[in-house]
Amino acid sequence: MTTTHNLGYPRIGPRRELKFALESLWHGKASEQALQKTAAGLRAQNWQEQSGLALAPVGDFSLYDQVLDMTVTLGNLPERARAYDGSALDEYFRVARGRSPSDSTCCSVHAGEMTKWFDTNYHYIVPEFSADTSFSLNAERILDQLAEARTQGVSAKPVIIGPVTYLWLGKAKDDSDRLNLLNKLLPVYAELLAKLAAQGAEWVQIDEPALVTELDANWRHAFILAYHELKTAPVKLLLTTYFGELRENLQLACELPVAGIHLDAIRARSEVSRLADWLPVHKVLSLGVINGRNIWKTDLNATLDLLEPLKEKLAERLWLAPSCSLLHVPVDLESETTLDPEVRNWLAFARQKLQELSILAKALDNGRESVAKELETNQKAIENRSQSPRVHNPAVTKALSAVTPGYGQRKSPFSTRARLQKERFQLPAYPTTTIGSFPQTPEIREVRKEFRLGNLGQQDYTARIHEEIAYCVKQQEALGLDVLVHGEAERNDMVEYFGEQLEGYVFSRFGWVQSYGSRCVKPPILFGDISRPNAMTVDWINYAQSLTDKPMKGMLTGPVTILNWSFVRDDQPRRDTCLQLALAVREEVQDLEKSGVGIIQIDEAALREGLPLRESDWNAYLEWAIEAFRISANGVRDDTQIHTHMCYSEFNDIIGAIARMDADVITIETSRSAMELLDAFKGFEYPNDIGPGVYDIHSPNIPQTEQVTNLMEKAAERIPAERLWVNPDCGLKTRRWEEVIPALKAMVAAARGLRTQNKGKEVMATELAETTQ
Ligand code: GLN
Ligand code: ZN
Repeated sequence: MTTTHNLGYPRIGPRRELKFALESLWHGKASEQALQKTAAGLRAQNWQEQSGLALAPVGDFSLYDQVLDMTVTLGNLPERARAYDGSALDEYFRVARGRSPSDSTCCSVHAGEMTKWFDTNYHYIVPEFSADTSFSLNAERILDQLAEARTQGVSAKPVIIGPVTYLWLGKAKDDSDRLNLLNKLLPVYAELLAKLAAQGAEWVQIDEPALVTELDANWRHAFILAYHELKTAPVKLLLTTYFGELRENLQLACELPVAGIHLDAIRARSEVSRLADWLPVHKVLSLGVINGRNIWKTDLNATLDLLEPLKEKLAERLWLAPSCSLLHVPVDLESETTLDPEVRNWLAFARQKLQELSILAKALDNGRESVAKELETNQKAIENRSQSPRVHNPAVTKALSAVTPGYGQRKSPFSTRARLQKERFQLPAYPTTTIGSFPQTPEIREVRKEFRLGNLGQQDYTARIHEEIAYCVKQQEALGLDVLVHGEAERNDMVEYFGEQLEGYVFSRFGWVQSYGSRCVKPPILFGDISRPNAMTVDWINYAQSLTDKPMKGMLTGPVTILNWSFVRDDQPRRDTCLQLALAVREEVQDLEKSGVGIIQIDEAALREGLPLRESDWNAYLEWAIEAFRISANGVRDDTQIHTHMCYSEFNDIIGAIARMDADVITIETSRSAMELLDAFKGFEYPNDIGPGVYDIHSPNIPQTEQVTNLMEKAAERIPAERLWVNPDCGLKTRRWEEVIPALKAMVAAARGLRTQNKGKEVMATELAETTQ
């Protein structure tokens, strides 16, 4: 029999039950026991759904984050979280969120840093180390879950993060080399494995996804040390890699003394046969053949074509699984009763992916005839999708083939454009603007909801949004901002808003995926060629412009961000999909320009998120991503001003690519790092205008004028003052008007101060010049 298993299952629940249970606890509306009860219920349900597998994961369930769980297991919770009263769960949430339910009056601890889990949109809590970090085993959580699983008759395979990847994921606060901790860490792992074995675990899934990244000699050596030390553990280890190819680490991975290895056979398809050849004959090869990163049905026949010869060769040593944890896909397609039935038939969420896995195993064990009906249904869906006129739109193909290099090219260089734009807009020095959204009040959310439900007619809806735009414009005029925005009241989300108006997209109702803790996102599904039947933003922006003499900035989401925040098709390269999106955005840009809008911002908040895991692959991505942005932005007149916005802090390493976007103005996040970020500009002269954020919109703190002035002065040390803009870090939609107004007042006051100060300097300089003549 072919062994089927799963690496991890979504834990949020089919209706985000975990989210609501967590938030109830945090808001003091429910007890710890209530949360634990919901959690146990979800685990039981998850195991039930995985009962067809030979091995189901245990310990993959987490109340917040699986890396933080491992931190607890290894006794590595930061000291600062432990100094207070409260339960173990309180300590856990203090690290996760900076406070726990029982801290409401006493204490606030800074939360652990959060960062993206490889190239997914899941965020983990970064383990903290220092030279004197020590570890001690705290196996309660995983042992309890193992016991729980066993009483439910689950054939359990505990899941843990491996020692090397655990260190790799973390940060040493004192700049010590965290690899030095390996010796202290390994005995704790040995103890943990022994305990799991003692509770009946035969196999342990030990996740080492760091193996798909570029590792230096020390890190590679750490793998050898670690697994030689752990080879005496009384369990079988399944060394688990995912999210990419092993490449130069392939041989290393093959040679480690473990009982089996899991390969992401979707992303590392090209390595399957080499691994099957090289793997020592006593080792299991687990192939992740069902894509855990997207929502498409697997082509089962094609997958069997790959697997059947391998089964011949490997027999019982061949295991089957999804490519990675199913954490990254929605739970159950069955819930999507309102989804377009044709497109729905092309999809598989977590539950359906496990069904596919069992069909594959049956076909391998008993021949394809044994599952003839299932295979036929699958084949029909695959064919229907690949031939559907809804996927392939000849007009889009034609538009793409007409793209010439000129599409990505402004007519004149920045210096010429800047002069023309200066004449046109007559902006003062240190011009002030915002990033797009203004506070999204409960009332405005209600208006959108009522419209969506059909309780509010189009006319009434438009009137209500107009009211909101008018209010927003009035506030900005009163504040004295220089370039205004309409405030984005009509948008629930910066990607969904555009997706809903483009051909080629569908939206699920319950397709939530965990982003971090209780936060979930519902990525839209891009299934077909992208086209833009109608203008998407022009009317709103024109209305806003009609209310003021100040320039009104058009506001769009860029093609790369739309791509990176959607589930996208797997039947063509991401690059091609991105180019289609770029053409749609370009049409919108040109329509805005035609309607008289002179300043257009194209947000690329997620440009960085698409960076491949290995730096050696970055250029290939940046090449097409930047080209897509340029195509979307650059089909405009010289005196039309293009802005872009990015809101992540590390961009030193891609600054050259950002400059190649050739936006006239870029606004970026910097205030949290007190402009240190701009150090990137010391070694690299960014050629165009730049607005380093001076108001940290993620914090409820309201900046004072002097603070803003200081930040801008720091910025002016790195970038010539005549190319600086003054603006917040990001959109203001999560803030309240009461916060936003004083913050922007301070911002405008600072800009005005800088202007007079600079005037003063100019005058002084002229006087000086005159007297010395
Ligand atoms: N224009 C968007 C806004 O202001 C940008 C959001 C973002 O960068 N994440 O909300
Ligand atoms: Zn932003």
